[in-house]
Amino acid sequence: AAEEPGAFGIADINEAVVDMLHNTVGRVAQVRRILEQRDFHLAFQPIVSLATGKLHHVEALIRVGDCGSPAEFIAFAERIGLICDLDLLVCQAALDVLKQAEDQGRAVPDIAINLSAVSLASPLIIEQLQALLRPHQGLTRKLLVEVTETATVNDFQGLNRVLGHLRKLGLRICLDDVGSGTTSFMSLNELRVDYAKLDGRIVQGALTNGRDLTILRSIVEIARHLGTDLVAEQIETEEQLRYLRKLGVRYGQGYLFGKPSPVLPGFDLAAPSRPSRRTGERVSWE
Ligand code: C2E
Ligand code: MG
Ligand code: MG
Ligand code: MG
Repeated sequence: AAEEPGAFGIADINEAVVDMLHNTVGRVAQVRRILEQRDFHLAFQPIVSLATGKLHHVEALIRVGDCGSPAEFIAFAERIGLICDLDLLVCQAALDVLKQAEDQGRAVPDIAINLSAVSLASPLIIEQLQALLRPHQGLTRKLLVEVTETATVNDFQGLNRVLGHLRKLGLRICLDDVGSGTTSFMSLNELRVDYAKLDGRIVQGALTNGRDLTILRSIVEIARHLGTDLVAEQIETEEQLRYLRKLGVRYGQGYLFGKPSPVLPGFDLAAPSRPSRRTGERVSWE
């Protein structure tokens, strides 16, 4: 039977699927190329003491050319099984910066890198990190790792074992995005970590929304009980700062203190030759 005009036939579906595959294949190739050519750089964002405003350490955030937002890019790398390689490259890049600074006798802040829950679940991750860190014994103490849990990683015992290995390597551990959909605040109770980061959405919602406020207060309470220092993410206003200080949150990160920048405080050789030169320090590529 002849197809009605305008009907959606098998040929159209085939074409759509082929388009989609092409697109995905292209994106996979793009991520592979980024990994092979190390075609990324790091942006550093300050984490300060809320009491004194003094810099405590920085978080290294990956920046890749035209690959959408970092969150999208990371999620895609997780889906195609390349996140572990990527996280290791970021770790290597952070170590390179610390090494260069040390060689030049410059004081630089400690650096936190992000390790995806998918990377943490990889059976080789500890060995691979160990191999990266081995030539840099003295520098490991300047590194922190921010870890997230996910719905698929609900095996707290297993995760605690991995975190124990990380700690044995000399790394400090920070539980990222606590209070978000991905890291439940109850996991604070279950996982042994040095710091915990209050998710930015909760920080921003707490002053206007009773539910977020309740979650925020509960996390502060649990953290106090455990003796875990909190870092509040995404602080943008003085009002948020005052409130978090009053609650006793120790550290903070957010545009109020500084945006992610290719310039590492005290050390500007990490800066690439692109926009930072023109627009100065407070550049953000978001
Ligand atoms: P995250 O680890 O929670 O990092 C904090 C995010 O909050 C960063 O987004 C940062 O730019 C943003 N941010 C900081 N202050 C403010 C603020 O005051 N207001 C607002 N609206 N946002 C603020 P970014 O750089 O887009 O990164 C998004 C996520 O991508 C990160 O969230 C992290 O989960 C992931 N990511 C980035 N780099 C890496 C990496 O090397 N490895 C892995 N596994 N994940 C990474
Ligand atoms: Mg983080
Ligand atoms: Mg975070
Ligand atoms: Mg976050």
